[in-house]
Amino acid sequence: MTSVIFATLFICMVAMPALAAEQKAGGGFDLPALPYGYDALEPVIDTKTMETHHGKHHKAYVDNLNKQIEATPELAGKSLEDIVANISKYSAAVRNNGGGHWNHTFFWQLMAPAAQSGKPSAELEKALTETFGSLDKFKEEFEKAGVGRFGSGWAWLVLTADGKLVVTSTPNQDNPLMDVAEVKGTPILGNDVWEHAYYLNYQNRRADYLKAWWTVVNWTKVSEIYAAAKK
Ligand code: MN
Repeated sequence: MTSVIFATLFICMVAMPALAAEQKAGGGFDLPALPYGYDALEPVIDTKTMETHHGKHHKAYVDNLNKQIEATPELAGKSLEDIVANISKYSAAVRNNGGGHWNHTFFWQLMAPAAQSGKPSAELEKALTETFGSLDKFKEEFEKAGVGRFGSGWAWLVLTADGKLVVTSTPNQDNPLMDVAEVKGTPILGNDVWEHAYYLNYQNRRADYLKAWWTVVNWTKVSEIYAAAKK
């Protein structure tokens, strides 16, 4: 019995990779620390972009979400996953800032310095090859989704409820966990295509940013997320 409980706890911990999804005792969320330095993703993503993106943009999503939590009694004590999954019940401010907090918390974990980016697990590579034809074809599809998103948003690889890998994109700070998403699923990989994510280095060349980004994808982490989502 004890071992079953421990096994269940372990699986839950693995399935929620450091998303700090629960509110603090006093209510609200913290800005999570980056798992690497601001300069760690150079030259693909420059230090100034990372400082601004994490320290200003992500921080603003957290601060503004916390203001909404203070002002909205039904958000008290709700996990970030719960808020996002039921986002149609809440205001646009909760949708934008709750999505912004979830998306960026997820995004930072998906990257690593180029030397530590690793490779997709055999299981993930096999699934990507079966679905898209090859790893390179998958990357093309993903880049296309990012380039094709008009204005601001995200490109995603998701695992759908029926076990399929699908490339999709969402506008603004929406994500595929939201009840309003066109394509729903568990995010396995996501890239931020807001101009704030790339403009200093790439200006209007979003396609170049999307292509360069593969160099800093943390495939070890992405493979863990995929394995957890499959369970
Ligand atoms: Mn962003």
